Amino acid sequence: MKVLTVVGARPNFVKVAPLVKQMEKMGIDFDLVHTGQHYDRELSKDFFDQLEIPDPNIYLGVGSGTHGVQTGKTMMKMEEVLMADSYDIVLVVGDVNSTLAASIAAVKLQIPVGHIEAGYRSFDMQMPEEVNRVLVDRVSQLLFAPTENSVLNLLNEGIDKERTFLVGNIMVETLLKNIHRMERPEVLDDIGDYMVLTLHRAENTDDRNRLLSILKGAGNSDVPVIFPVHPRTKEKLRSHGINGELEKNKNIIYTKPLTYLEFQYLLAHSKCALTDSGGVQEEAMVHKVPCLTLRKNTERMITMQYGANKLVGTDTCLISTEIGRILRGEYKAWPIPPFWDKRVSKRILSCIVDHQELLFVPTSDLITQ
Ligand code: UDP
Repeated sequence: MKVLTVVGARPNFVKVAPLVKQMEKMGIDFDLVHTGQHYDRELSKDFFDQLEIPDPNIYLGVGSGTHGVQTGKTMMKMEEVLMADSYDIVLVVGDVNSTLAASIAAVKLQIPVGHIEAGYRSFDMQMPEEVNRVLVDRVSQLLFAPTENSVLNLLNEGIDKERTFLVGNIMVETLLKNIHRMERPEVLDDIGDYMVLTLHRAENTDDRNRLLSILKGAGNSDVPVIFPVHPRTKEKLRSHGINGELEKNKNIIYTKPLTYLEFQYLLAHSKCALTDSGGVQEEAMVHKVPCLTLRKNTERMITMQYGANKLVGTDTCLISTEIGRILRGEYKAWPIPPFWDKRVSKRILSCIVDHQELLFVPTSDLITQ
């Protein structure tokens, strides 16, 4: 059996790390493709090095661009890769454009797709990631779901139970396997209690008022806010002309994106996480750090159901109020969800090995012109 695994963006690298190690361990032959969607050293190479992911066999160098350009370019290049060898399954992770492009290229060549992190839904089709999630799940042959709720979402969309597997959260496997290696970032020198802020979703960064409203809400807090700024957000802060506003607020300490091990340390020791990231909501939950999500919805429903996360949107007052509650300790501890452990990649690969009869694209599901 030969597997093709595809990564493109920062959260993908975190998710694929345990998977490639497990494939090596199980003697499964695989190629790793990096589409080049994220190419900055801080968002890409550093993750390969720290998480000891082998160098990709194939680098597509797609780079940034509009959704259409990025997805289209990736599909064209993926098609060439897929036609140059013989793969039994293409494994994709998460919800980025590379995930969608690789899945469509594969299924059109009648190569089965396995989607890791299947079934997450925000039910908001204005969110590009939601479009990717829905479409990738629709064309996937094997669906690896992180939670019971995501299994239900898939079944509600008519996806066969036989192809849907509750395997747990692979990002949590990476976290648990690296928790003893966390590195204290320099930015914490001389800092006592603090909160963490991450922001990169288009709905927040592209709108000047929302961005300002979030920064004001965060900046009002009684403790400093450490803000590792995503390159895309940095560019938006500059183009919206709000760099100066940020500098005026001494409570917000902004820094370059941190390495994985530094960011985990930062998150684990913070009083509260403020974020619009999907992965950070889950990681905060595992670190037992309360999270406020700067969005009007979340596909990570489980974090809300367990009381680890609250949606606060972008309203300055609401953000300040909820931060106040958390800093006063007004929240209850929560348990860790089932299967969020160190064996997720093993479950996924065992499913593939044990269900090879499912590795075909059924005629009724074929996408035609
Ligand atoms: N992350 C990191 N350094 C940072 C910010 C985030 O290593 O400065 C990690 C974070 O711990 C998580 C991943 O990046 O593992 C999440 O990526 P991102 O927020 O870009 O994507 P999303 O989860 O929203 O798809």
